[in-house]
Amino acid sequence: MKKCLAALLVLALGLSLAAACGAEGESTLYVKKVENLPEDFIFGMDASCVIALEESGVKYYDFDGNEEDVFKVLKDNGVNYIRVRIWNDPYDANGNGYGGGNNDIDKAVLIGQRATKYGMKLLVNFHYSDFWADPSKQMAPKAWAGMEIEEKTQAVYEYTRESLIKLRDAGVDVGMVQVGNETNNLMCGERIWFNIQYLMQAGAKATREIFPEALVALHFANPEKAGSYATYAKKMDYYQVDYDVFASSYYPYWHGSLENLAAVLDEIAVTYGKKVMVMETSYAYTAEDTDFNGNTIGDGGAIVKNYPFTVQGQANNVRDITDTIVNHVTNGIGVVYWEGTWISVGGKSWEENSALWEKHGSGWASSYAAQYDPNDAGRYYGGNAVDNQAMFDQFGHPLESLKVFRLMRAGNEIALRADALEDVQIICDLNGTLQLPDTVNAVMNDDSKQEIPVVWHLSEEDKQDMYAGGVNQYVITGTAGGMEAHCYVSMVEYNFLQDYSFEENSSAWVFTDLTQADELYIEDKKTDSLTGTKHAHFWSAKQNSVEFTLEQQVEELPEGKFKFTISIMGGDAGNTDIYAYVKVNGEIVAKAPLKITSYGNWDTAATDAFAHHAGEAVTVGIYVKCQGAGNGAWGKIDDALLNSVK
Ligand code: CA
Repeated sequence: MKKCLAALLVLALGLSLAAACGAEGESTLYVKKVENLPEDFIFGMDASCVIALEESGVKYYDFDGNEEDVFKVLKDNGVNYIRVRIWNDPYDANGNGYGGGNNDIDKAVLIGQRATKYGMKLLVNFHYSDFWADPSKQMAPKAWAGMEIEEKTQAVYEYTRESLIKLRDAGVDVGMVQVGNETNNLMCGERIWFNIQYLMQAGAKATREIFPEALVALHFANPEKAGSYATYAKKMDYYQVDYDVFASSYYPYWHGSLENLAAVLDEIAVTYGKKVMVMETSYAYTAEDTDFNGNTIGDGGAIVKNYPFTVQGQANNVRDITDTIVNHVTNGIGVVYWEGTWISVGGKSWEENSALWEKHGSGWASSYAAQYDPNDAGRYYGGNAVDNQAMFDQFGHPLESLKVFRLMRAGNEIALRADALEDVQIICDLNGTLQLPDTVNAVMNDDSKQEIPVVWHLSEEDKQDMYAGGVNQYVITGTAGGMEAHCYVSMVEYNFLQDYSFEENSSAWVFTDLTQADELYIEDKKTDSLTGTKHAHFWSAKQNSVEFTLEQQVEELPEGKFKFTISIMGGDAGNTDIYAYVKVNGEIVAKAPLKITSYGNWDTAATDAFAHHAGEAVTVGIYVKCQGAGNGAWGKIDDALLNSVK
């Protein structure tokens, strides 16, 4: 049914594609048009690390493969805002940089001038810290340590004012100033809103004086925390903080759904008449690391992966966020991609890269940051943990996803193709037939899901080796939609019984006492079990008081040939009559004798093969009768197997 639907879809799309092609024929990126996109919508790129990277030897290229100023490449691809973070003094007493770009005001001036040169506005991001500020970390700058709130407020005002004057005097076109970074209940060492609001007011005041045309933004994170944004906005309103933009980080791995993001931002825009935007987002285009410093986002971990980790997936994330901000919230003004230019410094080993990170501050933190930030930077300093989320490859060439900013305006709804394939997992009975699926699940370039045909590369010889290899695991590769598909096959001896080792206390096994044994039960005693910790136990004090069956009625047995195997050990048994058996429709069709000898000597027996046809009821079991040597007998039964045979 599903397969038919997929075929119809392809047919229908094939018809509509002829009309869609040609809009942006040069890109292989699928981009669904964002309707109602304003001409002046902010498409920002945080490019804070660029200068430290260039000092480390990094070069950037345009789409033709020519070396080019990365700011020009960004501009040519639809970016109109450059965001830059500013730390007050990210250096130790000897002038060694803390890393993360060593971004002080002087770096911001250099970055701002280059943004201005190519006609992009600068979004100034004051952290009011000497290093990274985020929801869990808002340390005051060294120079402001111990300041009371009045003094600190004045310091924020003066520092903001002086920094903005430097930018103004350097001719930088500042479009927006962010007062604090991800200030969720914390800012610049302050922990109560009564104090935090003074700092925000001071930053806003300085901005209004130096860049009266610029927007003042406040920036928060964790839109998924119910009620938190409404609370922040209410506090701002209560204290009458002067700001224009309520901005949010939105990393889809952690920050909830786009619907929730739209709802919480819209509420603030409507209630308080503020502009809203996404101030940070990014997405992985690959799970691979490129700089010998492990990445925050990879294949594992309990995170939400809304899109495949592909260049197309990265672009779809940006497109869908933009659509949300433009069409699903009131007063949505922009989306800024975070550090899309932060790539590997390009060395061939960790040591080589580490030397560059330490010297130029091009990793997330250098060892010199340890004194200021001992618990985080001091312990985990190193390179780039987001190189797989950049919009440039490790060599500085732009990824096709960078075109998304430009292509969203008209759309680039090219032919659908598979963008990522789901792995297939199969368990195959060694005596059964290996059946590989003829389709695999694909995520298409428009983020829709389809089942597409697959051709597996498995020779008859390979297949025979798999059957000959016993219990084992294999990966079979195939081709689907022009990509490599993977099928993980576990070759097993499939056991058609439930609770085969008596570990689950299930009702699958039934004892029937035919005399009056003293003890018949499932016992939990590892030393007396063949495998696991439990087994079926029997014991009786008197002679001739052990006679019972232990049976399981088999559920959902396919047609075919099977054999039943079970194990027993015990002692003091005297004359015995013990056998494993199979009943089909109530008649015993196969038997295998067993014997009890002494403690620890397990006897295992398998019945001959028997055939099972559709509709027949199959029961397997063991019959045990012991005369007892002197007194009664005892024993243990474990590990029942019902396997198919050829
Ligand atoms: Ca890395």
